[in-house]
Amino acid sequence: MLALTDVLAAQEVIKGVADGTPLVPSYLSQKLGGDLWLKLEICQPMGAFKLRGAVNAMAHVPDGARGVTCCSTGNHGRAVAYAAAQKGLRAVICMSDLVPQAKIDGIRALGAEVHIHGRSQDEAQTHATQLARDDGLIDIPPFDDPHVIAGQGTIALEMLRARPDLDTLMIPLSGGGLAAGMAVAARAIKPDIRLIGVSMDRGAAMAASITAGRPVEVEEVASLADSLGGGIGLSNRFSFPLCRTLLDEVVLITEDEIYTAMQALYYEDRLVAEGACVVGIAALLAGKIAPSRQMGTVITGRNVDMAQFTRVVTGQDVRLGDVIVKGTPYDD
Ligand SMILES: *Cc1c(COP(=O)(O)O)cnc(C)c1O
Repeated sequence: MLALTDVLAAQEVIKGVADGTPLVPSYLSQKLGGDLWLKLEICQPMGAFKLRGAVNAMAHVPDGARGVTCCSTGNHGRAVAYAAAQKGLRAVICMSDLVPQAKIDGIRALGAEVHIHGRSQDEAQTHATQLARDDGLIDIPPFDDPHVIAGQGTIALEMLRARPDLDTLMIPLSGGGLAAGMAVAARAIKPDIRLIGVSMDRGAAMAASITAGRPVEVEEVASLADSLGGGIGLSNRFSFPLCRTLLDEVVLITEDEIYTAMQALYYEDRLVAEGACVVGIAALLAGKIAPSRQMGTVITGRNVDMAQFTRVVTGQDVRLGDVIVKGTPYDD
């Protein structure tokens, strides 16, 4: 359904716009019992890897289309806004009225229109679907789309070109566009590579769906890894079957483990990154993945709430909905 050739084609499309991020050795390597390499997607112009998929999808928008739309409060919305501006296309990002003003301003600053519609993500998506139908805008999905998946897969091409000896990839996993694309590429280049999806243990829709053998819904809860929240879509066509067949396993991480790993990435590697980025590191630190010689993970995005980030790295309690993650100072 999707093959290495699609990812290679995406690599040509995104060249010079959304590629070539650094792959750096982590200072955590000594602690972990193997070399750990960090793919710094925080260096993308809008701060997250989602630009790869958005730029590739944008290139396939048919000539004469009136513009693009999507429903996303997070990195996908930013990526679509940025990629559309690059192409001179109109972009309408749909959000519910629960979204904080800062996120709205962030997307507007990238040149997109923001439509506030309804009181939930679902209602905002309904509006995006309507815009697609009535105004001729192309709806760009966040993960369940072949062009988006192929774009994200280019990360694995770059990692394996720079370090052909990588033997394990730990991939932050939500809707599975990133994991599916990277797995398509990595499995084709290096069939015996170990591919591990990592999610938080509360609201892990892809993990639950793989266990059930079909897409299922899970309750969405607040998490330090907020970019990993949300479902995979009950009519998922691409990312679910690819993750199900290509990943060796999916590992689940607690909020406490994410908290500690955010501190570790900050104090050891001096990196400011979202909670979603550190789940691979968290799995290693917690002993949930056996270390190997040459491991790689993706530091997926840097669009973190700085007030919350500061609380984490200074060892204070963090409130997530009705749960409190107990603060602890970083202990190296
Ligand atoms: C979207 C996102 C992910 C997860 O990607 P999926 O393709 O939905 O699995 C991980 N990290 C960050 C920062 C993201 O924005």
